[in-house]
Formats: sequence, C-alpha cells, structure tokens
Amino acid sequence: MKESSCNSSCPLCNAPIKTIRHAGRVKTLAICKDCGLWFRTPRPTPKELKAIYNKDYYDTWALQENPELTELSKQKTFACVLEKIDTFIPNDNTSRSLLDIGAATGHFISLAKAKKWSVFALEANPFSLDILRNKLGNDHVFCDSITNVTLEERSLDVITMFDAIEHIPNIETLLRESHRLLKGNGILCITTPRIDSYSRLFMRKNWPHYKEEHIQYFSKQCLKATLQKHGFEVKTTRGHTKWLHFCYLNAQFQAYRHWFFTPVFNYLDRILPKKIKQIALPYRCGEMLMIAQKNTKEGIEI
Ligand SMILES: [Zn+2]
Repeated sequence: MKESSCNSSCPLCNAPIKTIRHAGRVKTLAICKDCGLWFRTPRPTPKELKAIYNKDYYDTWALQENPELTELSKQKTFACVLEKIDTFIPNDNTSRSLLDIGAATGHFISLAKAKKWSVFALEANPFSLDILRNKLGNDHVFCDSITNVTLEERSLDVITMFDAIEHIPNIETLLRESHRLLKGNGILCITTPRIDSYSRLFMRKNWPHYKEEHIQYFSKQCLKATLQKHGFEVKTTRGHTKWLHFCYLNAQFQAYRHWFFTPVFNYLDRILPKKIKQIALPYRCGEMLMIAQKNTKEGIEI
C-alpha cells in the first residue's frame, strides 16, 4: 500500500492526520494515530453518499435470483445474534423495544418482530424505506439520520447496527443519540468490518470490505474506546459469523471484483450443482460483533 502526505483531521477525535494510504477501490484512507480510526479522505459529500443507496444497492445480496435463500441465510445469521441479545434483555413477558439502525430491507426486524419485540427501523435508502413502512407502518420507521428518530428519551431496550456504523458520517451524533434513547442498562449491538482482522492483514488492498460506501473502519480497540467514551461498557467482542450461500457470495464478487475470487467464483458458478450452491454455510469474513451496555454509574452517564 502506497503512502502520501495530507493535511486533514480525524472525524472521530479531531487529531491532525499526516499520512494517507492508497487502498484499492476506496482509493485513499487516512489513519488516525491518536484513536486508531481509518477513514476515507476526502470525506464523500452527502450528495455522493445519497447516489450510492438505491434499489441497485442490494444487487449484491442476490435478492433477485434467490430471495428466499437470502432471507433464510440472513435469518440464520440474525437468529444467533438475537439469542445473544436475549441473554442481556431476557424475555420476561413485558414489552421489549428495539431500534435497528441501517435496517435495509428488514430481515432482522422481521425476525425480532416474530419474537415479540416491539421494533423500530432507521434507514437512509429510499427503496428500503418503502419496504420497511409496509412491514412496520409509518410510525415505526425513521429516515436518514438518528436525529430524525422521534422516540422518547430512555425508551429503548436495544439498539442494533448491523454493518452500519462504517457507513454513517457523524459517529459522535450517532452514539450520543443512541445513549440518550436507550433505557438504563440498555444494549447497543454492533457488527462492522474489523480493520485489524487477519483477513484484512492477509488480503491487504484486495480486502472485500474496502467499498466506497464504507467511509470508516474500526479496530477492536478503537471501537471499544469510542463506545466507552460515549458512556457504554463493552460486554462482548467476538468474530461475527455470517451464514451465506454460494449465490450471495458470487453476487458479492461480481459487484466488488477481486482479482482472484471473482474468476474462481465464475468458474464454480458454471460447475457446481444448483443444490450445492443453495446451501448456507457459516463464514467469518473479518467482521466483529460488539455488544455494549449503557453505563449508568454516577458521573459516567452522558
Ligand atoms: Zn482519531
């Protein structure tokens, strides 16, 4: 990876940045030596980000060819996470409330709703917003930014962000508002690509999580420290396992082309029987799952 100089500041801690790295399809990433955040520089404008999120954005999910398979594999992935959340907020037959930030087309909220959670969704993609409103009703869906969420302070048991925090421009506002909306001891559950993962170290500039819409990347330590700074106590960190079928992986490698995996998947697509391609298998793809609890100790709550 090539390096060059720049004069910018970290969007998380405002420290001055001196060097940037050229990292494949995201072109340039700055690394903050103070907090450890990796981020796109220059930062994309709101207009540039808006242009990314539309119906085509989900082409990489194989929704067109195999909607049922994608639904099943996402439900399997999310069922494991929801089980983990249950250990913090057990079902005691009272109403449990949850906001999913970056809810996409609602795979997780559908599962949570079926498990009797009272669910709300926040999403920026206009295509997904229509689907979410059909599933949940207008009152349970918010658009664009957490500052548009009109729920009462301390009204939520859980806030989830699956593959979302790396997309969101203002992390300070996101975490401050999340803290405000959560009840005492409420839970924040985040999955995101881990910049210090073995997969990134091994694949370098060909790392599949380098995408233009991923405007920042956290290491385990950087995310942990950021959550602590915003009044959360980290309870669990582990590698995030996703259940994926071949068609989903193939769609990913067609959209985000990789010098090795794209031709390999093209070849496998031609030779593998349909039944094999439809089997969902567990993968660890360099992402972490971090669960943190709102800290309500005197003097710490913000
Ligand atoms: Zn920083």
